[in-house]
Amino acid sequence: MDADLVRRYLEFYQDLGVKSLYRRTPLTVASPAPAPQPRLQSTPQPATPMPTPVELPPLAPQDDTLLRILEDIGDCRRCRLHEGRNKLVFGVGNEKSPLVFVGEGPGADEDAQGIPFVGRAGQLLTQMIENTARKEGIPLQRADVYICNVVKCRPPGNRTPEPDEMEICGQFVSRQLSVIRPKAICALGGTAARALTGHKEGVTKMRGKWLQWKDIPVMVTYHPSYLLRPYNEHAKREAWEDLKKVLHFVYD
Ligand code: URA
Repeated sequence: MDADLVRRYLEFYQDLGVKSLYRRTPLTVASPAPAPQPRLQSTPQPATPMPTPVELPPLAPQDDTLLRILEDIGDCRRCRLHEGRNKLVFGVGNEKSPLVFVGEGPGADEDAQGIPFVGRAGQLLTQMIENTARKEGIPLQRADVYICNVVKCRPPGNRTPEPDEMEICGQFVSRQLSVIRPKAICALGGTAARALTGHKEGVTKMRGKWLQWKDIPVMVTYHPSYLLRPYNEHAKREAWEDLKKVLHFVYD
């Protein structure tokens, strides 16, 4: 069985929700039975042999590409989110970007257009990226970065994606990030931050800090939808500080 076939089996198990695999201990060639020992001198034997560690091949195929990931997602029906979907929202922007923004999940406008962050929150994100970059003397447009979400289909009523939905879609986000290999990731909101970094805190605790996805630094900031709510001037200033930090880290 070659690595690609093993990967496909593992993906299939992952889609079914199977998270751990155990390998039978290899059969050893029978050796001659040891000479019988006097009963009182026998040493206790472990009941079962220790399992040998299994080195699994990486789930992403070698020479993975964004196109290959999109093909593998296909007409996805792996979780319940496909039921209300109009368009799957894969990701948009520069595939070689040193900076990737990761949001939570598509809203109504994104679901209609198949492009992440095109609604009101998306317009604010665009302004935040472009205005902050301009003020900091960094020539950067939205199209220069890559933008995607933790889940690719719109959760009904814009609810927070469920853990199993994020887990199923997570393999594809993970492959997208592995292909792009940005210098830094900016997690937009607590859901994206928790999904990427495994931290459990709320966004106010995590924001402004460098966390990690694998070996890539993750800057957490507020979700633009949160910043759209009235009376969030303080949070807007904090988000601006977070963005400055990540832009200087990536582009200086
Ligand atoms: N909110 C998100 O988290 N992602 C989008 O694409 C749009 C709104």
